[in-house]
Amino acid sequence: MVIFSGIQPTGRKHLGNYIGAILQYVEGQDRADPAIYCIVDLHGTTVAYEPAELRERSRDTAALLVAAGLDPERCVLFRQSDVPQHTELTWLLSSVTSVGQLNRMHQFRDKAGTARDRVSAGLLYYPVLMAADVLAYRAHEVPVGEDQREHIELMRDVAEAFNKRFGETLVVPEGNIPTVGARVRDLKEPDKKMSTTGGTPAGTVYVDEEPASIVKKFKRAETDSGREIVRADDKPGISNLIEILAVVRGTAPNAIEHDFEGKGYGDFKTAVGEEVAAWLSPVRERYLELRQDTAAIEEIFEAGAAKATAIAAPVVADVRDAMGVGKPV
Ligand code: ATP
Ligand code: MG
Repeated sequence: MVIFSGIQPTGRKHLGNYIGAILQYVEGQDRADPAIYCIVDLHGTTVAYEPAELRERSRDTAALLVAAGLDPERCVLFRQSDVPQHTELTWLLSSVTSVGQLNRMHQFRDKAGTARDRVSAGLLYYPVLMAADVLAYRAHEVPVGEDQREHIELMRDVAEAFNKRFGETLVVPEGNIPTVGARVRDLKEPDKKMSTTGGTPAGTVYVDEEPASIVKKFKRAETDSGREIVRADDKPGISNLIEILAVVRGTAPNAIEHDFEGKGYGDFKTAVGEEVAAWLSPVRERYLELRQDTAAIEEIFEAGAAKATAIAAPVVADVRDAMGVGKPV
């Protein structure tokens, strides 16, 4: 069973990325054969960015994954642009992807906003590159947060359309979306997901943030006018905090509601902040140490790219062959 997932190197990674994705990466590492994790720097070029910063963030993101518990010996950890099969397969898959499908994607619509004719074509193409990432490894399982459900559906459609048109070649993957914590919300605007590009600074908690600052952000988290610490549709702020604490404590959200029965919002927010800060603190410390050794991270990337290429190259060769492009194999 092959697991594949990608994470963008744009900006500092936040609690949503950590809970919704990174924890699942670590858990999958010894369950899969192999687990493949990719820093998707090419996806990072689809919005405005600084080249030098992107390169640095790519290494930082890898350092963060290692700090969180990924072992480059037990998984494949690499940088997307180091394996050109991803871009080649993107083009090949575009023949079984329609413009209409891409135009309908919520992430594209949200990120493009009213500038739909002016954003980069890359932003529209983002899900095709993501499909290529996964399909190039014939991955079975893709751990992602709730926001990626639609992109998983698209890559399944693309794989099915390819197999139908050109013969059974690709594996149709399944998403693996956690039951709790799949959509961590912005602390200030809990109707939105915590996000690198679309969130509020005061409502976004970074994995490498100082503990005192994390506690402060939770104390100032937006709640609602009620008093009860229970999950409800009209309590997105409190529900979010309950889910976060459930993940931190490794218990069910019900247990959190039970533990805080009769307590006030203020005490609850302080407790969540302190527990999150203590939970992230060792990851932060390892990260701050690891990120300094850029040569070591480049070595991880080099070894990871060699392992990734060994898997992806034969798959892309099969795709080329099925499509009738290039030399016959
Ligand atoms: P952007 O807002 O620019 O898209 P991002 O914060 O979504 O950035 P990504 O690198 O695109 O970060 O996402 C990495 C992984 O984290 C994906 O699997 C995504 O589903 C997951 N994820 C992102 N935000 C959240 C969130 N708020 N809650 C749970 N999972 C999340
Ligand atoms: Mg995203």
